Amino acid sequence: MEQTLSIIKPDAVAKGVIGKILDRFESNGLRIAAMKKVQLSRKDAQEFYAVHKERPFFNDLVDFMISGPVVVSVLEGENAVAKNRELMGATNPKEAEPGTIRADFAENIDANAVHGSDSLENAKKEIAFFFSQREIS
Ligand code: GDP
Repeated sequence: MEQTLSIIKPDAVAKGVIGKILDRFESNGLRIAAMKKVQLSRKDAQEFYAVHKERPFFNDLVDFMISGPVVVSVLEGENAVAKNRELMGATNPKEAEPGTIRADFAENIDANAVHGSDSLENAKKEIAFFFSQREIS
């Protein structure tokens, strides 16, 4: 069993598709082990995306992630990291496979509906960034 971190980004929350996205997870063998709705501060977003701080899109990414509330969850299941990435689709929604979350709900590469951990190691760090052990069950 693996755990991975999912974020439903501000564009998808504003559109009112939280339930539709959570249904993709639950219908595909990913159990929601923890969940909360959060308004990130600039400092939170900068820290969470610190690996991208030298990238040209870093400031746009931070501005976007604090533009409204997000829904953060811990997803649990067999191969949860890879399974979630598969359900999400490519970073750029124009390149995302039909039927993926980004193909169905994302606007563009900035407003791309969801985040998902890209490795088990990052999943552990990202889960610890948002949740204490007692919030996960
Ligand atoms: P992800 O793991 O699929 O979310 O992609 P990355 O970890 O590579 O990038 C993190 C986030 O930064 C993406 O989800 C996008 O919102 C944003 N991003 C990545 N690449 C670009 C880019 O080339 N331009 C812009 N504007 N945003 C990007």
